Amino acid sequence: MAKDYYKILGVNKNASPDEIRTSFRRLAHQHHPDKKGGNAEKFKEINEAHQVLSDKEKRAQYDQYGSTFDQAGPQGGAGFGGFNGANGFGGFGAGGPFGGGFSNGGQGFEFDLGDIFGDVFGGGARTRTRTRTARGADIHMDAELTFKDAAFGVERPVSLYKQVACDVCGGNGAEHGSGVKKCKTCDGQGQVITNQRTILGTFQSASVCNECHGAGKRPEKACKHCGGNGVIKKHSEFSLKIPGGIDDGETIRVGGGGESGAHGAAPGDLYLTVHVKPDTRFERDGFDVRSTIKISFPQAAAGDEVQVDTLDGQVKMVIPEGTQPGQVFKLRERGIRQLRGSGRGDHLVRVEVSVPKKISKRQKELLQEFESLS
Ligand SMILES: [Zn+2]
Ligand SMILES: [Zn+2]
Repeated sequence: MAKDYYKILGVNKNASPDEIRTSFRRLAHQHHPDKKGGNAEKFKEINEAHQVLSDKEKRAQYDQYGSTFDQAGPQGGAGFGGFNGANGFGGFGAGGPFGGGFSNGGQGFEFDLGDIFGDVFGGGARTRTRTRTARGADIHMDAELTFKDAAFGVERPVSLYKQVACDVCGGNGAEHGSGVKKCKTCDGQGQVITNQRTILGTFQSASVCNECHGAGKRPEKACKHCGGNGVIKKHSEFSLKIPGGIDDGETIRVGGGGESGAHGAAPGDLYLTVHVKPDTRFERDGFDVRSTIKISFPQAAAGDEVQVDTLDGQVKMVIPEGTQPGQVFKLRERGIRQLRGSGRGDHLVRVEVSVPKKISKRQKELLQEFESLS
């Protein structure tokens, strides 16, 4: 029996395109193979169903021919891969143009789904199109910063145990003294083209060369240190400059800072997500800092000079005569460094006027005298 695409997406036959899309997104999230508990088979099925039901024409065709649709074609046994050839669908099957599909460590898989999942995962690293050779893995890290470090930037030592280029062969995987030769299996192309004959004609499909893993060349004699892969696991230490102005939850990307790729492939990226510890004195507002000070009624009425905590330490601030409760004063350029561009934000000080809960007899007399003069 062929598949019931409506059932797979959990919608009824009259579902609107919106309903189909919503349901697809939910299920795709749930079963995405990159996720814990994800299920590649299920995911593939959901995609297959979505490919058909989200397309007006294909959906109509499917509705007409019902559940026999994907078996009706002469491509039969080729499954969705054959389907792809005939209808121009993305290749999910093993016979698809990118080979391997879901089974080869996700290589073909990311390539296929880049566009589809751009919106689901919000773009960025997950949806990057893969090159033919397996790029090194990305590394994700977290760093906790103080409010001040986030405001001004800080240099952090990083210690990682990661895959790096082999320091004996320099990453090409060849034993010292021996060279690198063109891969015979793929004739240096890094991929192997196979012709697939179906009733509809012959389709070409390319897959990554098993012999050279897409590099197109192979070491004459494998390096003993790395076994010919060109990479080893090693502690690597470096310092990372975190720019001033970065905010809580923001991520910086260090291109090429991830794991080195095997067989001379490009390295992955390093992603560092910043968590900023709150500071009880300050509140962030864009690149401005906000704080509150308490002054007395006489200070507010007659004016005074006070010390205010800022990112630069204590700073003198003038309270002018007649300051009102809730009034905000600006300390120019005492705020957070602009993440992009130059200069700093401001420090905005809100003034609270405290009313004493207890006063002496003498104070009361004076206030009453003051009141009588107003
Ligand atoms: Zn080596
Ligand atoms: Zn090859």
